[in-house]
Amino acid sequence: KESRAKKFQRQHMDPDGPSNNPNYCNQMMRRRNMTEGRCKPVNTFVHEPLVDVQAICFQGNITCKNGQPNCHKSSSSMKITDCRVTSGSKYPNCDYRTSQKERHIIVACEGNPYVPVHFDASV
Ligand code: 5GP
Repeated sequence: KESRAKKFQRQHMDPDGPSNNPNYCNQMMRRRNMTEGRCKPVNTFVHEPLVDVQAICFQGNITCKNGQPNCHKSSSSMKITDCRVTSGSKYPNCDYRTSQKERHIIVACEGNPYVPVHFDASV
């Protein structure tokens, strides 16, 4: 079974980016299996080295949106792509708007090693 850490990497890591392609989210959401069963409504890809994203687990500790205490906010801003399903999108044809941003990101971390397992927000 896929670990939570590997699932985070599948859903959120794309170090070889960002891409100018307006179809980036349409392609990546499908390629990374987030359009099976439903169109995942909002998802962020991070265009930074995995080690730099893993390091966030040892940066500023904050409360997650769900009230859990194990969220961490990156001390630097990071290159990200925000993918958001369009209002006209109809499963199984998942249609996304692609927006490139530079933001601090907030991830939840778990385990030993203590690594990212959930993307909470960008700020
Ligand atoms: P909305 O803007 O639709 O009210 O809420 C979207 C929220 O989802 C934002 O707070 C945004 O930071 C957050 N978000 C962005 N990317 C992801 C993601 O990949 N996973 C999760 N769970 N939330 C995300």
